[in-house]
Amino acid sequence: MKAIVIGGGIGGACAAIALKRFGIETAVYEAVKEIKPVGAAISIWPNGVKCLNYLGMKDALRELGGNMRFMAYKEYQQGQTMTRFSMDPLIQSVGEQPYPVARAELQSMLLETYGRDQVQFGKRVTHVEESADSVTAWFDDGTSATGDLLIAADGTHSIIRQHVLGYATERRYAGYVNWNGLVEIDESIAPADQWTTFVGEGKRVSLMPVSGNRFYFFFDVPLPKGFPQDRTTVCDDLQGYFAGWAEPVQKLIRQINPETTNRVEIHDIEPFMQLVKGRIALLGDSGHSTTPDIGQGGCAAMEDAVVLANMLQTNSLGIEDALLRYQEKRAYRVKDLVLKARKRCDVTHGKEMAVTEQWYEDLKSETGERILSGMCETILGGPLE
Ligand code: FAD
Repeated sequence: MKAIVIGGGIGGACAAIALKRFGIETAVYEAVKEIKPVGAAISIWPNGVKCLNYLGMKDALRELGGNMRFMAYKEYQQGQTMTRFSMDPLIQSVGEQPYPVARAELQSMLLETYGRDQVQFGKRVTHVEESADSVTAWFDDGTSATGDLLIAADGTHSIIRQHVLGYATERRYAGYVNWNGLVEIDESIAPADQWTTFVGEGKRVSLMPVSGNRFYFFFDVPLPKGFPQDRTTVCDDLQGYFAGWAEPVQKLIRQINPETTNRVEIHDIEPFMQLVKGRIALLGDSGHSTTPDIGQGGCAAMEDAVVLANMLQTNSLGIEDALLRYQEKRAYRVKDLVLKARKRCDVTHGKEMAVTEQWYEDLKSETGERILSGMCETILGGPLE
């Protein structure tokens, strides 16, 4: 059996690693010459960590992961703590800890694990064709690749999605802009072992530790789509949006490097239940594109990879049957994650300001129990116990 994997991001790389571990021949085709992820870092929650453990990256991941033992929300003007609690109950409940990691390092770990030299870079798929017993991907350089199945891990802008669904999907703007990057840890801004989030006015400023004495930071601001802002205006933009916010936030803005700060308009795609067609499977953002509000998009791609490989490995009724079983196992799970993230997004970013204000109030009496139990439920919905 030979699988063609389109896209060498988190989803494609994990799928290729998973299939290779089961002895399935793979070939990975990636559009760009060098992968430059859109975000600086990513939080891998225990459901994603378990998938990477399962795929043989347990020790490598621990080298990259930040030590995130506590979680705290702070009020935006004075920086007073609204709630602070240990993440240990979560870790104890689910049996693994979360690891925030720098994206470039995660990407490197995945490609090294698979074999970077086995990825064909600069191969952009333009269309795919299926026959009764094979599938062919055509690239923009006029070449093609044929296999027994094709895994479309070509991201949120997937061109293969339309072939699978039979219609075009629209990306939905979620109503806010996210700036993110990495900065050296400064404990006068936030403790080194804590996920700290300042909230107010429907905006947020968040810091998470990653390895190498660095914080992953992000700023969210509800804004119309298409504002003419870029790296040259980052500091002025953030100073304007966060005027009057507490001193640690001002300090963070002074310390960030605009050259390496990303600005992303956040989108998702209305969930759909069809993830496969014949010998083609959508995996990762091509099959379920989510806002990052529960930090599960990449974790879900890892889950997809593990489930898909298992379905192919354990099934004897053929590829098309295995892919349908993959769809059956994944469609409800990923729909749930997209909708949960959308709900969180709206509460966090002031879609209805009264609801957001109530959330701020609720945070003041939060012991950690409600927040962690919500996280546990999401995490335990993954494929690995
Ligand atoms: P991608 O990472 O987009 O990879 C797709 C790959 O396919 C790319 O390398 C691309 O070049 C290639 N490609 C595209 N088109 C073609 C083509 N035609 N031919 C060949 N190759 C092609 N998730 C989490 O789990 N935790 C988080 O904390 C988190 N934070 C996030 C923060 C932000 C600001 C954003 C935007 C997302 C966040 N996510 C997070 C989501 C996560 O980044 C995505 O879900 C994840 O990257 C999806 O991986 P993927 O492989 O499906 O897609």
